[in-house]
Amino acid sequence: MKQGTSAKEAQAFAAVLEQQGVKVHFSEGASQTVLGLVGDTTNIDEESLRAHHLVEKVIRVQAPYKRAHRQFHPENTRIDIAAPSGPDRHIGAGYLGIIAGPCSVESREQIITIAASVKQSGAGFLRGGAFKPRTSPYSFQGLGDEGLTLLLEAKKETGLPIVSELMDVKHLDGFNEVDIIQIGARNMQNFTLLKELGRCGKPVLLKRGLASTIKEFLMAAEYLIAGGNDRIVLCERGIRTFEDFTRNTLDLSAVPGLKKESHLPVIVDPSHATGLSWMVPALAKAAIAAGADGIMVEVHNNPETARCDGEQSITPADFAGLMEMIQKYAAIEGKQIA
Ligand code: PEP
Ligand code: MN
Repeated sequence: MKQGTSAKEAQAFAAVLEQQGVKVHFSEGASQTVLGLVGDTTNIDEESLRAHHLVEKVIRVQAPYKRAHRQFHPENTRIDIAAPSGPDRHIGAGYLGIIAGPCSVESREQIITIAASVKQSGAGFLRGGAFKPRTSPYSFQGLGDEGLTLLLEAKKETGLPIVSELMDVKHLDGFNEVDIIQIGARNMQNFTLLKELGRCGKPVLLKRGLASTIKEFLMAAEYLIAGGNDRIVLCERGIRTFEDFTRNTLDLSAVPGLKKESHLPVIVDPSHATGLSWMVPALAKAAIAAGADGIMVEVHNNPETARCDGEQSITPADFAGLMEMIQKYAAIEGKQIA
């Protein structure tokens, strides 16, 4: 409280705070009083406290992402996903999720060919965008609903669960049989979308925003959990820095950082992090070594003709080689690929 706040004023202020469900602990110093708010402070609005005429300073001791925080759930969270055929898939708590596939679904032949090859190499999930967030309105925007239909065919054909990006709640109905809904970097703070997915109960792959801090990333996850959905996989996909050698800068420190702060599984996307296919295997290995719970990698059967992100897409043969390395890294980390 500000200097000169009387005991009576502090008591009255504390009484108002207690009405918001917290206990107030008084520390009276020689010239100032400190009020400690004990209990669930999630509903206390820091901004309005700061605006109060008696308040000198507000310090939040606990993280504002209460439910995403490890304190709320000390054990690592494991996300379980049923596969159309074969065993259930798991991500987190000792299980590595390996998600592979093209940036975007382009044709039946393309998606089925890639799906079959990544499955053969040991991927647990097939990715493929049907609705693409492109920087230019003139670039290929994805096949939309037709892309989803083709992805579902590939799911049926291979038995691989699928991951695809949702850009707009109005498309949600088409995602009924999509196993993991991806929220892309550009939509990490699309709160309308996050609130809707909080209600939907499907696993969400939440990608870190291009210029988002770890705290903002975890607050986005908090939106989902607060809405009732705790089936979340966090994905570090590179952030914007001054460096332009790579498309983004992979923030590998986010992996141990997020895992220290949160119980949620964390995977790494080295494809969007670098934009360079030749760099992908090195960083995929580094991600596993840093404690990631999986990777998401773009794979294309003909990167040169890809309609989106060809430069960062590895070939099915490269992916097969990468998987051999990942098996070894998984063994060192004592993790299972599922
Ligand atoms: C993607 O995964 O295809 C994608 C668009 O990723 P990001 O949102 O991380 O850019
Ligand atoms: Mn892409």
